[in-house]
Order: sequence, then structure tokens, then C-alpha cells
Amino acid sequence: MATCSPSGVLATKVGAGCAENPYLCYQCKRCTAGCPVADQAGMHPAQIMRAVQLGQYDMIFEDKFIWLCTGCQTCTTRCPQGIDIAGIMDELKIIARREGKVHPDAPSAQMFKYNYDSFARWGRMWEIELIARDALHRPKGVLAWLSLGPKMLLKGKINPTLKKGDTDAMKRMVKTAESLTEAKQHEGGKG
Ligand code: SF4
Ligand code: SF4
Repeated sequence: MATCSPSGVLATKVGAGCAENPYLCYQCKRCTAGCPVADQAGMHPAQIMRAVQLGQYDMIFEDKFIWLCTGCQTCTTRCPQGIDIAGIMDELKIIARREGKVHPDAPSAQMFKYNYDSFARWGRMWEIELIARDALHRPKGVLAWLSLGPKMLLKGKINPTLKKGDTDAMKRMVKTAESLTEAKQHEGGKG
């Protein structure tokens, strides 16, 4: 059964992270009407907004919608209240990862982490490493990679050789990003 956090805690955390006010939402559902993945999960953008207002952690994090969000920003451009809904979806992903609430049936969630690790390690993304890590941790995805991998190689979407980027610059960026995240976390914890 879904549980609720104390009223306002989740909205405060979201607001501290992305400077948006979820309480401005009045449920017109224009965001949902334009969202390309609204029908692909149990929840849709307007429901996520309502759940944020009510502090319904489990309802949001036990559904995989936030991990299906493509960040296309259609919702943000359609919102009559000027809410950056796509930014709120991103912030919910950050909160889910920070608080160990990543949906187990959301392969893209791990892929974000693999991307991040790859950038931090090599100074650029190395697709072969991402695919290998995904296959190791999600064996049911191997078949999809066996079918997709060769096509992507042929189209030049995957580079089989490792070409390092500027690892020092990337480490500085990672350090800055981590300090910003810590500062947001601290700010969110005050709520
Ligand atoms: S479009 Fe904006 S006001 Fe309307 S439901 Fe979505 S978030 Fe709420
Ligand atoms: S940014 Fe995400 S929630 Fe908004 S319309 Fe695009 S897919 Fe849907």
C-alpha cells in the first residue's frame, strides 16, 4: 500500500533542487495531453504533479513513469502556470537515486548511471562499456543488444575502440556537479 511522507516534504525537496513550485499546478492536464509517454506507465505527468503536492513518495517511485520521461519539454511548454515540469521529472530522478528508490524495472535509470561513470572515468562516453555493464546487470537485455548492437555499429553509433576525452576537465565538472548536488540535498533537508 502506498504511504505518504509528511505533507510538503517532497514538494520542498523538489523546489530546493530545481527552483520550481509544484503547488502552482491546478490539474488542467495540458501536460499529460501532450506527453508522448503518458500512456506508457501507471501514472502521467499531471498525476505526478498531484502526488508531489501531496507528498506521495511511493506512488511516484513505485511507478516507472519518471524513468520513461524523455525530457522532450512538451509539458513545460504547454503548462499555463509556467511550471518546468520536465525539470521536476529530472529532480524526481535525482531524489530517487539519492534515496535508493530507483524503480527496478527501469533500465534507463541504470543507463544514466553508466553514462555518468563512463564520462567520469574516460572523459567521454564509451558505448561498449555501457552495453557490457547493462548486459551484466540485466541479462534479459542481452537479446536486445545482440539485435541492436551490430546495426548501431554499422551506422557508426557505437565506437568499438576507446577514445579518451579530457579526463581532468571531466573530473573537475564531476566534482562541481557533486558539490551542487550536496548543497541542494542540504537545502532540501531543511524542509
Ligand atoms: S499543465 Fe501545468 S497546471 Fe496543468 S496539470 Fe500540468 S503541471 Fe498542472
Ligand atoms: S518532458 Fe517528460 S513528462 Fe514532459 S512531455 Fe516530455 S516525456 Fe512527458
